Amino acid sequence: MIKVENLVKHYGDKYAVNNISFTVGEKQIVGLLGPNGAGKSTTMNILTGFLSASSGKVEIDGHDILDDTMAAKRSIGYLPEIPPVYPDMTVKEYLNFVYELKGCTLNRRKHIEEIVNVTKIADVYNRVIGNLSRGYKQRVGIAQALIGNPKVIILDEPTIGLDPKQIVEVRNLIRTLGHNHTVILSTHILSEVQAVCDRVVIINKGRIMADKPIDEISDAVVTRCRLEAAICGPVKEVLYAIRTLNGVTRCDSLKTDGDTTTYIIESEAGLDIRKPLFNLLSSRGWPLVGLNTMGMSLEDIFIALTVDPTKGKSAKAKFVK
Ligand code: ADP
Ligand code: MG
Repeated sequence: MIKVENLVKHYGDKYAVNNISFTVGEKQIVGLLGPNGAGKSTTMNILTGFLSASSGKVEIDGHDILDDTMAAKRSIGYLPEIPPVYPDMTVKEYLNFVYELKGCTLNRRKHIEEIVNVTKIADVYNRVIGNLSRGYKQRVGIAQALIGNPKVIILDEPTIGLDPKQIVEVRNLIRTLGHNHTVILSTHILSEVQAVCDRVVIINKGRIMADKPIDEISDAVVTRCRLEAAICGPVKEVLYAIRTLNGVTRCDSLKTDGDTTTYIIESEAGLDIRKPLFNLLSSRGWPLVGLNTMGMSLEDIFIALTVDPTKGKSAKAKFVK
């Protein structure tokens, strides 16, 4: 459905996108995952024909974005980083405006009604967009992308700036869209990709570092376990004791607040050290007052995914700025 070949975009001698290639099949949901400045928005702007590439090729549903721009663009609904909504219009006026703009020929009333229902914006249909909450604005942004029923939906950081409840709603909506559309979304949050995508393409500094089905990323993620523990006790002794626990690969103190210190504890692949940790602390009379399992950071994931097992060397050096 989407074919990207050797895409390059440079500004002067700075490469925003540096030789990116990937393909996306029909009705797949693919996440472009990468830190700020990785090249996600640039890639999406090129895919949607908003920006021209320095070199490379993009095909959407068999249409070349350069040779066959109109047809390619018609196959795409795009929600850019900043939603293109007009604050002075009502939702109704805006969606009708986009309908005209796209030259849509579907039954207007029925089509817009369907979109309003699927994006759950019926409550605010007659309200002025400028007065809506961020969550509603974002859904109006997704609604405009759906007008014309394009096969491909491209969403640039669709949950950024939303509160946790709105994030869940937008993620559910994206999963629903995946039933009938090919979806590419960008994010810098790993759990977002895990929550909604079938596949992840990890980008860093304009290059693809990994391109994997989501279950493979999960395998890489469980290769290390990390805990954050708040413990009352003498820091040096606590550190020493935890470091000698079987399977612990790293323990550092983060911060001390009164008599409680927070520690980061990492352990070997697939090893749950919570019970031995608790037993150790209770035997020493050091109360455990908080314990969180922490997800791996994007950097950790990135390293885990790009380790070359034959060389045993990670790509960390490439990631760190
Ligand atoms: P992301 O969306 O992953 O945060 P971007 O695609 O926005 O990343 O940016 C990728 C890189 O390209 C960044 O280093 C950014 O500063 C640079 N960049 C983006 N647009 C321009 C531009 N118009 N001029 C110069 N550099 C740019
Ligand atoms: Mg961006």
